Amino acid sequence: MNNSKITRFITSDGSARLIFADTGEIVNTAHMHHLTTPTATAVLGRALTAASLMGCLMKNPTDSLTFQLKGDGPGGTVTCVSDYSGNVRGYMDNPAVDLPLKPNGKLDVSGAVGQGYICIVRDLGAGEPYVGMSELVSGEIAEDVTAYFANSEQTPSACALGVLVDRDYSCRVAGGFILQLLPGADDAIIDKLEANMTVINSVTEIMNKGYGAERFAQLVFDGIEYEEFDTIDISFKCTCSKEKYEKGLISLGKDEIQAMLDDGEDVETVCRFCKNKYVFSLDELKDILDKTAK
Ligand SMILES: [Zn+2]
Repeated sequence: MNNSKITRFITSDGSARLIFADTGEIVNTAHMHHLTTPTATAVLGRALTAASLMGCLMKNPTDSLTFQLKGDGPGGTVTCVSDYSGNVRGYMDNPAVDLPLKPNGKLDVSGAVGQGYICIVRDLGAGEPYVGMSELVSGEIAEDVTAYFANSEQTPSACALGVLVDRDYSCRVAGGFILQLLPGADDAIIDKLEANMTVINSVTEIMNKGYGAERFAQLVFDGIEYEEFDTIDISFKCTCSKEKYEKGLISLGKDEIQAMLDDGEDVETVCRFCKNKYVFSLDELKDILDKTAK
């Protein structure tokens, strides 16, 4: 499968921008890390795609964005974290959620997500992180992202997301886009964009025919002059390390670490995002205890 990538377009008059993500490889990596069922692959895959797209809207290289779906459905909470370049990692509480297909033959994403909230946290490095919340309107995720932009950020946007799961449960294609109006957008362009958007029924149907970013730009910006801004490679990228988990152990305090030593067994931690295992031997725990004592 091709590397995942994001391509950004802008109308020549600066009325609107389109950010398209091809995330098949990212979603397939998530499927392999978390052994997701097809329903869960669709939920987590759409969320990862949305988080990656929203990450790309941030301004500074050190910014990070946490995208959370807090629904009451059997899939549980879905958490994705992305960076300024669109690299993303994520997990969901119940990757084994398995629901019957909907009457239209599609995976039941809204059934797995349920009702609740979408919560976006932007950590801009300095000061308190910016937190935005919006009620889930459908649980299909794309509509929820669109509603979030309207309610919480007052930015007129349209979002489309899709994940197509293959017969062997791997991800066949995945992707999506965010279309955003920029300040002072031209009314005639807005009308054209609205009309053009009605033509795009299914992201995965178009992608499964082998089309990518350029095709979506042609469809969304039909009759409008536009330019391709840039293309960037993105991946499922975790930031975990043994050092981070060591810091976590130190923060537990002396008594906790002593209790672990008293248990007399290695301590094993597993990253929630990428399932990487980190083992601390008793000798390493003693060293950590010494560091904590200082
Ligand atoms: Zn990790």
